[in-house]
Amino acid sequence: MNSAASSNFIAACVDAIGAAHVLTDPHDTAPYLTDWRRRYTGSACAVLCPSTAEEVAAIVRLANEHRVAIVPQGGNTGLVGGATPDTSGAQQAVLSLRRLNRVRDVDPHNNTITVEAGVILADVQARAESAARLFPLSLAAQGSCTIGGNLSTNAGGTGVLRYGNTRELCLGLEVVTPQGELWDGLRGLRKDNTGYDLRDLFIGAEGTLGIITAAVMKLHPQPAARVTALAALPSAHAALDFLSLAQRHAGPLLTGFELMSDFCLRLVNRHFPQMRYPFAEPHAQIVLLELSDSESEEHARALFERMMETALESGLVEDAVVAENLAQTQAFWNLREHIPLAQAEEGLNIKHDIAVPISRIGHFIEETDALIAEAAPGARMVTFGHLGDGNLHYNVQAPEGGDAKQFLAQYQSTMNQIVYDSTHRHRGSISAEHGIGQLKIDESAHYKSDIEVRLMKTLKSAFDPLNLMNPGKVLR
Ligand code: FAD
Repeated sequence: MNSAASSNFIAACVDAIGAAHVLTDPHDTAPYLTDWRRRYTGSACAVLCPSTAEEVAAIVRLANEHRVAIVPQGGNTGLVGGATPDTSGAQQAVLSLRRLNRVRDVDPHNNTITVEAGVILADVQARAESAARLFPLSLAAQGSCTIGGNLSTNAGGTGVLRYGNTRELCLGLEVVTPQGELWDGLRGLRKDNTGYDLRDLFIGAEGTLGIITAAVMKLHPQPAARVTALAALPSAHAALDFLSLAQRHAGPLLTGFELMSDFCLRLVNRHFPQMRYPFAEPHAQIVLLELSDSESEEHARALFERMMETALESGLVEDAVVAENLAQTQAFWNLREHIPLAQAEEGLNIKHDIAVPISRIGHFIEETDALIAEAAPGARMVTFGHLGDGNLHYNVQAPEGGDAKQFLAQYQSTMNQIVYDSTHRHRGSISAEHGIGQLKIDESAHYKSDIEVRLMKTLKSAFDPLNLMNPGKVLR
């Protein structure tokens, strides 16, 4: 595309949505062109900021006419470079959904909320709360990420064990197709067996099949009480047994079960000294668990005490501490949420967001730790994650005092191969909740079967024959 063609596209967008919402000044566009981890910086002929689904559709029709590719963007908190354009310049435009930020409807009887794609996740939670309901999707980026981004990455977070990931929380979608038509699939139905499930195709597609402009999301009753605790355990295998025990005792009341290795919490304490290691003695693994009870605080605590008594008596759990108030609950969650921040403070590291069947977690950690120790003696493992979902953030940090940059240059591809081969052997996924974006595009093609890749490519070309929807993401 030459610069005259790109100027024509920009002029047409100005007519469609107004000059104030078509950004071309480098100072204005810069925040949209680099991803959250600062791994990728792209360029775009413009950043377009429509405020309605009809405006999004008009822009996509213009993109078809002028052959400009569209990179949808929500809060730009994605961790795999999915919302960042490539470096070719004039051929791509970023389409920011943030001005589509209205809550269209709350239906307490149907337990649904209908929101536009650019509504910030924390605002969806707040709006649900004001209707005495719970919107249970929860992740550390919730103050910035948008519901459209959550849907497009099928985000997970800390409530998946009880409520499922974003896909399981969605009943209907409104989508602008790659041809610029507006599909109204905003159905608030729990049952709808009327052919292929188009909704589920757009969820997790990372903007490669169309642009989500609104969604009907499920709401849940608010729990009457929450009890949060930290439990110390001798191994990841013990944590798995403890998960079974907790599920037996608490059933659906168990809403959180997060695993953190001893090293993770020492790293947090090193870089955030106000956050103390929570036990007097060191323990190999620490689990943060949470019960959400619909009856009362007393009921939750009684159930919790029975469960912990059994776990302590059987030697499964070595020690435990229960939050006595809201501040302590927050402090426990802060420990968990500061692990990635402490890791960043410690220096560059190699991250993996993998999933294996829950029963394989202990074996996966043991086997893969040994392979990594053999390949890079002294490498430090920062292993934490949503154990109840079989999802680990399995990260490798340079040896103590080592040069992190040099370690990364030397070991990044070896570590990726060790971890992903191991994940594959355990029939796992190389991307549990962050998606593929541009970061994992080659690995995804390598570990998926040829049949799966061919079917995905067939779908992509059927939906988007001109390859205008976020090209170069998910599939090459
Ligand atoms: P963006 O980053 O803007 O976009 C993500 C992808 O979706 C891109 O491919 C983009 O093109 C596409 N997209 C965005 N909006 C639309 C739309 N309306 N229509 C079509 N495509 C669209 N993720 C988890 O799953 N669990 C976690 O626990 C978690 N914790 C995190 C903690 C931190 C501190 C950070 C920074 C990120 C974390 N993430 C986590 C990753 C990230 O927050 C999620 O992927 C989130 O869902 C992205 O939302 P977003 O609005 O920022 O999307």
